This record gives sequence, structure tokens and C-alpha cells, in this order.
Amino acid sequence: MEKYEVIIIGAGPAGLNAAKILGEAGKSVLILEKNAEIGPKICAGGLTRKSIQYLNLPESIIDYKYNEIFFNSPRVRTRINFGETFFYTIDRKNLGAWQLQKLGHNVTVRTSSHVGKIEKDYLIINDQEKIGFEFLIGADGSNSVVRRFLKIKTRLAGVAVQYKLPLGDFPDFEIFLNSKFFSSWYSWIFPHRDHISIGYGYPQKVFSPLIAQKKFEAWAKERNISLENVPREVFLINCDYRGWKFGNIFLAGDAAGLADGFTGEGIYQALVSGEDIAKTILDPRHKARKIHAALRDKYLHEAMLVVVIILWPVRNILFNFITWAVGKRIIGRTLIRILT
Ligand SMILES: Cc1cc2nc3c(=O)[nH]c(=O)nc-3n(C[C@H](O)[C@H](O)[C@H](O)COP(=O)(O)OP(=O)(O)OC[C@H]3O[C@@H](n4cnc5c(N)ncnc54)[C@H](O)[C@@H]3O)c2cc1C
Repeated sequence: MEKYEVIIIGAGPAGLNAAKILGEAGKSVLILEKNAEIGPKICAGGLTRKSIQYLNLPESIIDYKYNEIFFNSPRVRTRINFGETFFYTIDRKNLGAWQLQKLGHNVTVRTSSHVGKIEKDYLIINDQEKIGFEFLIGADGSNSVVRRFLKIKTRLAGVAVQYKLPLGDFPDFEIFLNSKFFSSWYSWIFPHRDHISIGYGYPQKVFSPLIAQKKFEAWAKERNISLENVPREVFLINCDYRGWKFGNIFLAGDAAGLADGFTGEGIYQALVSGEDIAKTILDPRHKARKIHAALRDKYLHEAMLVVVIILWPVRNILFNFITWAVGKRIIGRTLIRILT
């Protein structure tokens, strides 16, 4: 049986980052990706300042840089401008290609390789090929086969829905808070170089997908946004964190449930968990400080979300107040710093 020191399932930001660090350290690494191409993923491609700093991305990968954001509530619209860039959009295909290019020779990448079955020290690709491992990293996203193998339940996942509209009427980076349409969550408009990402999210198992969609369509109609003939893209965001280290098996990024239950951000958490896991494999005494810091932020944001949920009778009043308050420079800066 063919065998590697580390097998990584999933070539998203988490898997590729882990592979880069392990490859640089001389480990024999196999990264398995079920799709034929590395990179494309249903995602709005929004990166906050910390991800850009972390990745040190070249300008060519960045679609747009934003130093201002429009917050919208039912009665208030506020423009926040900091005079410094704090939000970026990227195309996931370009991010994947860029990360792939950084991998060293020790890393073998196999696409069109679906992992369906896992055992303690081997796995099976495309129902036929058996490959052994010493360490396994589940970086296989919100519907993780590794998480299922570990018998870890996923109770707190969000559903995010995106439409990619042609460039045109929506040049600004906008967030919409409106309890009538989105309950405690929000909808977004993120302009990219070749399209505009418009979408919304809601908690799986709490909301009916049909009702959520009808509400979004009503909101879009109110704003003269035509969704006609635009494909609807839907995927889960796993926010149900239950640990990342399970003996010789690790969970990274969405597979670990590290995504933020309030903002939906998950790329940064995927990157840093990939790094900490790789470093733990290289040195079991490594302290996973980046995962712990990401968890602290996640829990803080999710506590804020709980407050928004509890205050449902006055939620729109709260949203109007927040939207007004973030227009005040200090409050706006503080909130953006906390959330990004
Ligand atoms: C609509 C939407 C909008 C979003 N917008 C943002 C945003 O603006 N900013 C942000 O930070 N986050 C956003 N997210 C979340 C973000 O996309 C994820 O948190 C992030 O991609 C997680 O990275 P990952 O590496 O953990 O997993 P993924 O990026 O999901 O990568 C997992 C990889 O594993 C592969 N895979 C899965 N199963 C198998 C298998 N059995 N065998 C082999 N390969 C497998 C998949 O094909 C995939 O390539 C959004 C999510 C959605 C759904």
C-alpha cells in the first residue's frame, strides 16, 4: 500500500496552507481534492485586513480594496470611511491557484480524488485506491467526511446563499441589517472585478429554506435587484466547533466548525488552523495560539449574535441604532475592529 506521512483531504485555504508548511519542513504530504480544479468554491470572497496581512497577497490576486462600507438598516444608511483599507475581495479560483503555486516538491497534489472511506491509518480514494497515512488532516469543508469518521455531530451550521450578478449598478461594499427579511443575520453586496456577489445567510435547522428565500427575493425586489437567470449558489458554513486534534487525526477550517457564526467569515480561520495543525504535527509541543485567538473572536461575535437574537421584539430599533452609531468615527472603528 502506498503511504504518506501526512494526508490532507481538501485543497481549500486550510488544506493548502497546512500542505505548504509541512512540505517546507520536508514531510511527505499528499493532498486530495475531489474537484477537478483547485480553488473554485461557493464563497463571497471577502477578506478582512488580518487575512491579507497573514497571506501577504500580491495586488494581482485582489479584486477590490475597500476603505469604506455602507451599513443599511430599515431606517438608516451610514457610510463609514476610515481612510485606510480594511476589506478586500478576491476570487477563490485565484486564491487557490496562488496557494497551489506555493507548494514545494514534497507535496503531491491529486485532483478528482474523492475520499469516501477512512480507517484508522488508511483511506480509500474514488472507491478503489487504498493509501496509508501517519497523520490525517480533515480540511474538507463543512460537509467533512473526516468529521463524520470521528463521529462528531454538526448542529450549528449556517446556510449561505449567493448570486453572482454582472457588473453594473452596485459599486459599493454594503451590509444590510433588517429583521423582517434576515432575522438576526444580514445580506451583503460585495463587488468583485468581474461580478457582484449578493447574498444572505441563515441558520440551518432553524429557518425554512423556502421562507428564507422568499424573504430574500422580496428584499431584492424592493431594491430593484433582478435575480432572473442568475444561478443560485448555496453551501453550508459549519460553525459547530468541537475540537481540532483527535490523536493522529486533525480537523481544520470549516471541517472543525471554526467559521464565525455571526459574520460567516471562515477563510482566515481556515488558514490559521491549517498552520497550527501543521506545526503541531511537526512539533507536538507547539502551542496553537492562532486557533485559540480565532476561537476567542468567534465566541465574542457569537455572544453578540445571541444578544441580537434575544432582542427580537426590538431588533430593528437596535439595527437602526447600531447603523446610526457606527457613523460616529470611534464607534464605527471599534465595531469594525471587533468584527474583522
Ligand atoms: C455563500 C458563502 C459565502 C461566503 N463568504 C465568505 C467571505 O466573504 N469571507 C470568508 O472569510 N468566508 C466566507 N465563506 C466561508 C468560507 O467559504 C469557508 O469558511 C472557507 O472556504 C473554509 O475553508 P476550508 O479550507 O476549511 O474549506 P473549503 O474551502 O470548503 O475547502 C474544502 C475542500 O475540500 C474538498 N473536499 C470536500 N470533501 C472532500 C472529499 N470527501 N474528498 C476530497 N476532497 C473533498 C472540497 O472540494 C474543497 O475544495 C462563505 C461561505 C459561503 C457558503
